[in-house]
Amino acid sequence: MKAGVLALQGDFREHARAFADAGATPVEVRTPEHLVDVDCLAIPGGESTTISRLARAYGLVEPIRERARAGMPILGTCAGLITLAERVIGGEPLFGLLDVTVRRNAYGRQVDSFEVDLDVEGIDHPVRGVFIRAPRVEEVGQGVRVLASHEGAPVVVAQGSVVAAAFHPELVGETGLHRYVLGLVAGR
Ligand code: GLN
Repeated sequence: MKAGVLALQGDFREHARAFADAGATPVEVRTPEHLVDVDCLAIPGGESTTISRLARAYGLVEPIRERARAGMPILGTCAGLITLAERVIGGEPLFGLLDVTVRRNAYGRQVDSFEVDLDVEGIDHPVRGVFIRAPRVEEVGQGVRVLASHEGAPVVVAQGSVVAAAFHPELVGETGLHRYVLGLVAGR
């Protein structure tokens, strides 16, 4: 299975490693051509403003939206969640594929970063994640399922085949969410 990783900025190498550990073949996606034969796509953590600027510059926004509308599973983490959200407080939406409102940098500054183990619906072990200047999900639309929460806020959400986490599983060798998304591909 070919697992694409949007490789414009951020921790895309860690996502590629997580997909490889989960048994898929990672493919770095930088152009619409790279997107053509991937079965799913991870959008990494990093800086959502930079990822957005580069995704527009490389002409990736519409091709990714089209693939998503056609059912390609997507996993976004942290900045990736921000790029997927329809509404962004303190920023601009990019792909607009998830009916949620997120607030950027809501979990404080870099020094306030923390790690937790989370119960995620559909994953049979506690999922470890790191929150680094993470976005907070402030509102979810009707079609959105909350797969995990932390201190009263949704931290893993899904709508159709689009799955997003406010934290980084990929930075601590956690592959549960990557396996979950590969399972969505297998189930198509
Ligand atoms: N604060 C970043 C942003 O707003 C996200 C941080 C991250 O991905 N760790 O894009």
